[in-house]
Amino acid sequence: MTPPRGPAPTPRNLFSFSRLKAFDQCPLRYRFRYLKGLKEAFRSIESHVGNAVHDVLEWLYEERAGGSEPALDRALDRLAEAWDARWEDGRVAVIRVADDAGAYLRHGREMVASFHERVFSNDRSVTVALEERLSVRLSERVVFTGFADRIGRTEQGTLFVVDYKTSAREGNGDDFSEGLQAPLYAAAVLERHGEEPVCLAGYHYLRHGSTSWRRVDRDEAGRVQARFLAKAERALDATEFPARPGILCAWCGFNHICERARVPDELSGGLRLAREREGS
Ligand code: SF4
Repeated sequence: MTPPRGPAPTPRNLFSFSRLKAFDQCPLRYRFRYLKGLKEAFRSIESHVGNAVHDVLEWLYEERAGGSEPALDRALDRLAEAWDARWEDGRVAVIRVADDAGAYLRHGREMVASFHERVFSNDRSVTVALEERLSVRLSERVVFTGFADRIGRTEQGTLFVVDYKTSAREGNGDDFSEGLQAPLYAAAVLERHGEEPVCLAGYHYLRHGSTSWRRVDRDEAGRVQARFLAKAERALDATEFPARPGILCAWCGFNHICERARVPDELSGGLRLAREREGS
């Protein structure tokens, strides 16, 4: 059975970081999702908890911008609401079949509590924008687009952009880990604030309570944009989209229609849900 279509195939020239990452990880998945516009049959619980926690962090800074200082219990209530609202469509899958969803919600609560206590309560920076769409034309054929979690100014007045990560592991300098995403957002922020010489690009790892920062000046902005453009042009010019099966097949929402999918039993929560939905 062919999965339902998403809203539409992504316009050919519009490249987000996620789109390039999909091409890098499995060109066939990229083709299904971005070129054919098919909708993945499920969302993993890991992305569900990430989205719910992001909702809360955005809300915390919105509240502060509106003049109130939300206490932790309100933030945790907000997490529960976001969790339930995002769960409603029946598409969230617990990939590791031995896990239970309650444990992920507890992790979410721990991340929000730790962030509230250690970061938010002490944060004297000023919010410039939350969940802001950034977009930069890189060439005739490629426009970079993405959403920055938070753009702000430090107490000293330096612009920054920070991306919140709920992944179990901290990143490294690879392009599809820490190398490109936040620096690209910083480059886009610099384009928008033409008078600024520097923007800090940060990742905050919520499970670890750590933040890594990188300074992006105009030279560095040019370099990361050129790297992104070269990768986007490779994806644009691709004529073949081979399957690249591996551990990520368990998290791929096309694994029920992919002949090359490799999904071990212990990681088959998504596959089972996709088949159930297919039968319903
Ligand atoms: S199931 Fe695996 S090989 Fe197939 S499209 Fe998804 S990631 Fe690629």
